[in-house]
Amino acid sequence: MLDYLVIGLGLAGISFCEQLEKHGKSYTVISDTSQTSSLVAGGLYNPVILKRFTLAWKAKEQLDMAVPFYTDLEKKLGVKLNYPLPVYRRFASIEEQNLWFEASDRKGLAEFLSTKIHPNKNPNIYAPFGYGEVLGTGRIDTKLLVSAYKKYLRKKEIFLGERFDPDQLQIEKVHIRYQSLQARRIVFTEGFGMKQNPFFNYLPMQGSKGEYLFIKAPDLKEEKVIKSSIFCIPEGGDVYRIGANYAREDKTNEPTDAAKSELLKKWDSFIRCDYEVIDHVAGVRPTVSDRKPLAGQHPQYHAMYVLNGFGSRGVMTGPYASERLYRSISADFSLDTELDVARFTKKHFKS
Ligand SMILES: Cc1cc2nc3c(=O)[nH]c(=O)nc-3n(C[C@H](O)[C@H](O)[C@H](O)COP(=O)(O)OP(=O)(O)OC[C@H]3O[C@@H](n4cnc5c(N)ncnc54)[C@H](O)[C@@H]3O)c2cc1C
Repeated sequence: MLDYLVIGLGLAGISFCEQLEKHGKSYTVISDTSQTSSLVAGGLYNPVILKRFTLAWKAKEQLDMAVPFYTDLEKKLGVKLNYPLPVYRRFASIEEQNLWFEASDRKGLAEFLSTKIHPNKNPNIYAPFGYGEVLGTGRIDTKLLVSAYKKYLRKKEIFLGERFDPDQLQIEKVHIRYQSLQARRIVFTEGFGMKQNPFFNYLPMQGSKGEYLFIKAPDLKEEKVIKSSIFCIPEGGDVYRIGANYAREDKTNEPTDAAKSELLKKWDSFIRCDYEVIDHVAGVRPTVSDRKPLAGQHPQYHAMYVLNGFGSRGVMTGPYASERLYRSISADFSLDTELDVARFTKKHFKS
């Protein structure tokens, strides 16, 4: 009898497995590659919403947990995952500069927004109004994290690389059975794949597709993350990841020509050097109608849990939400109401 069966190995699955490892629980993970969000993510951790100059939900608490979490994983997996990098918000006007200054005075934001305006020094970027710098930011190599974690689990013989079929799940009184496995609890961490999960598809996940282009630009020589109408993230070796867009209707993981044109149009509006597109990736962010994560117990089946809804902020949300979920399962601790799927229980009984 296992303590846990975990379904899905993206940022949610990995962060929950880390809780299980920390507390000495036995578990097995089943995951396929039907969803790609954690594989294509830009991997940025950034406490500020740069469109509106506001603080992301629980940003400080999340950031305080996230950086040590990934640093510990680097040691455990023996790979480099964390690249601390400044994020520079390109200003489009004097008005935006003023809004930045106003924001940098606000409680909570002051420690993350530098009050200095940085003039543009890169001749290959058009940025006449300069930049504001966000503090405490960086990038996690999420693709490498997923592959290194999978390798780690395979070595321990606790990973099955296949689709989980909900029809084969047997729910007993105090445990579950799946094929030859038995576990006290099952936790679904399926990202947008949750839409196909009959136990949790009552939850209001919308999904938002995003695409990135990889650009080779030997003359750009930019080491900071630039946020203009899109992000430009330096990946090393004169390669930059640019994007991502947000698409509502298409829920596939296929790159599209329409997104490529949209991204290049935005890129061309502020870049002034030659480049070549060398790759193009896409994935669906697991976004929720109220923009909060989904964590907690199934309203009917008490051995069943979900951890999902990380939207466009999985890097920072993962360590925080998984810790809260684990504590709520194992100790007398209530989940934050904003996180708890109990906020949608009525939808379950209506469906
Ligand atoms: C273009 C783009 C850019 C992004 N940029 C950033 C960023 O810069 N910073 C940031 O923090 N976040 C970013 N995100 C968001 C981030 O990727 C997500 O929040 C996070 O990866 C979600 O992780 P997850 O584990 O919930 O889902 P996923 O990564 O989708 O993982 C779920 C796993 O479960 C598997 N699965 C699903 N159903 C089944 C089943 N029935 N059987 C077996 N396995 C199953 C899937 O195949 C997958 O492996 C970005 C996302 C996209 C798409």
